[in-house]
Amino acid sequence: MKRLEGEPLLAIARAQGPWLIDAEGRRHLDAVSSWWVNLFGHGHPAMQAALADQLATLDHVMLAGLTHEPVVRLSERLAALTGLGHAFYASDGASATEIALKMSAHAWRNEGRPGKCEFIGLTGGYHGETVGALSVTDIPLFREAYAPLLRLSAALPSPDTRQAGPGESALALAQRCAAALEAHLERHHERTAALIVEPLVQCAAGFGMHDAEYLRLARALCDRYEVHLICDEIAVGFGRTGTLFAHEQARIRPDFLCLSKGLTGGTLPLSVVLTTDAVYAAFYDDRAARGFLHSHSYTGNPLACRAALTVLDLFEAAPVLAHNRVTAERLSALCAPLTAHPRVRAHRQLGMLWAWDIDDAGIAGFSGRYHLAAREQGLLLRPIGNTLYFMPPYVLDDDALRQLADGALRALESLS
Ligand SMILES: *Cc1c(COP(=O)(O)O)cnc(C)c1O
Repeated sequence: MKRLEGEPLLAIARAQGPWLIDAEGRRHLDAVSSWWVNLFGHGHPAMQAALADQLATLDHVMLAGLTHEPVVRLSERLAALTGLGHAFYASDGASATEIALKMSAHAWRNEGRPGKCEFIGLTGGYHGETVGALSVTDIPLFREAYAPLLRLSAALPSPDTRQAGPGESALALAQRCAAALEAHLERHHERTAALIVEPLVQCAAGFGMHDAEYLRLARALCDRYEVHLICDEIAVGFGRTGTLFAHEQARIRPDFLCLSKGLTGGTLPLSVVLTTDAVYAAFYDDRAARGFLHSHSYTGNPLACRAALTVLDLFEAAPVLAHNRVTAERLSALCAPLTAHPRVRAHRQLGMLWAWDIDDAGIAGFSGRYHLAAREQGLLLRPIGNTLYFMPPYVLDDDALRQLADGALRALESLS
């Protein structure tokens, strides 16, 4: 609140494609996809048409004892894409994490193993900020004030390549971190319900990236020690890492897959937890107490489901991932001068994600000051600590790519 006195809010009046238009008519490139949710730009005509049609047909109805076409079609299409045939809906990412954690522990309980009720995450992991989700989130700034409210869970070493020792490859680091996971599971598997990971990229940790081998090894260890694997693809799902879902790159299947953010292309709040036949079977019973008693008022909202169906339609209507590969190559080339800047310490890129760690010595309050400097360049960018990153929508033309690459460099130069 105090900061706003010196840094007034930017009022956005309209948005079109990748552009946000402020109250004074200035255009800002939404290079963070409005906090990682937008995929195909703002005001997409197909999205507008679908939502207008849905609003005129069925706006909302409860999903207890009732059903509707958008939620059935969406569940079937997500099942076909992931091989996970059971879906549970909520309205945001943190709720998806809560659902996955509760469902995992409850499934073990129903299988006669109530002792399996602890969770493991990775250092720097982020899974949302409600009390349960915060328990598996390892970001001290977010946890500190609420520490007495949180359940203990173990944070095991993350295979984030920035943690590699001298001369240690990403693969060797992945193997070393998997060995730490194995050591933990060996001792604690009897009381561990699930491991929760952000596949390939820990976005909130400052876009820490890891080798897919970690996911393969983690999957094998979870199988061996009978622990669920929860993949939180709330941020990285829907093509951000170059494949539709990040875990595909490790050729594994999680026991739970959490999706939100890009699920509706950045239009409406919706999240889903997809799971396996085995988990479903653990709840299949006449006794209510063995059912999954969890509900949200807007579960399976038809408008939000219709938005998600439109996102899947857009992925089917054009070779989006192939188009993104061309865009990514072009943007990486345009960013060569930024990457070569003397203040850049670490650079990484995957799919439609770019990150640079900046040596911010002598630039007090780097992230806030960079944000304002980028605003001068017509760019919406919000570094995490000293990590500058791009997570743009998939609809940047060459002018927009140039403005992003050139403006990000000029903003850095203006602070150096
Ligand atoms: C954003 C995010 C969440 C939380 O989603 P909300 O909708 O903000 O509650 C959880 N996990 C990851 C990986 C995220 O990026």
